[in-house]
Amino acid sequence: MLWEWECRLTDLESLENLVAAMRKLPGIGPKGARRIAYYLLRKDEEYLAELGALFTDLRKGLYTCSECGNVSEHNPCSICSDPLRDREIICIVDDIESISTFEDAGVYNGLYHILGGSDSPLSGQELTEENIDFLLEHINSVNAEEVIIATNPKVEGDMTYYALLDVLGRSGVKKVTRIAYGLPFGGHIALADRMTLHEALEARREVL
Ligand SMILES: [Zn+2]
Repeated sequence: MLWEWECRLTDLESLENLVAAMRKLPGIGPKGARRIAYYLLRKDEEYLAELGALFTDLRKGLYTCSECGNVSEHNPCSICSDPLRDREIICIVDDIESISTFEDAGVYNGLYHILGGSDSPLSGQELTEENIDFLLEHINSVNAEEVIIATNPKVEGDMTYYALLDVLGRSGVKKVTRIAYGLPFGGHIALADRMTLHEALEARREVL
């Protein structure tokens, strides 16, 4: 029953705190969080220290690309500074995970732009003036011929999408397209396989 995973099951404060923290992570439910916590409880301190260091060091030595918002060991990131990329196309995505999925699939050779910047992924939030300025600066700096909207599929009436269309309409960019989705609304680009992404890109349609 759900309720028994919702409440504290032990008087071990450190374990319960860990369960509570992990439950906030994507893809980990209450039962999974508790299983991981018990698993870690059986491990020795050296292992736990090594694991903790991986978390602590995760962002060390990383930069947010000042051109596209990607996270990289260099600024500009390896994609923005790659002379072999097609610099006339910018693909707007929600987050770094989407970039990673496109790159793994090897189906796209243009530039990217993370809409909300890497520190504030736009999960259902409104576009801010800062987001808009950052995007327009990028489009203008490379003189983009085409902007592809590849934000995650959301329910109809997605305000971010329409706000984005409005901004792009006033930007002077020649062509604005949106990828076709083989994903259900509410899904994430990261869930798409290579063929689905390839077809979604190939079948992109002009929206402006
Ligand atoms: Zn970049």
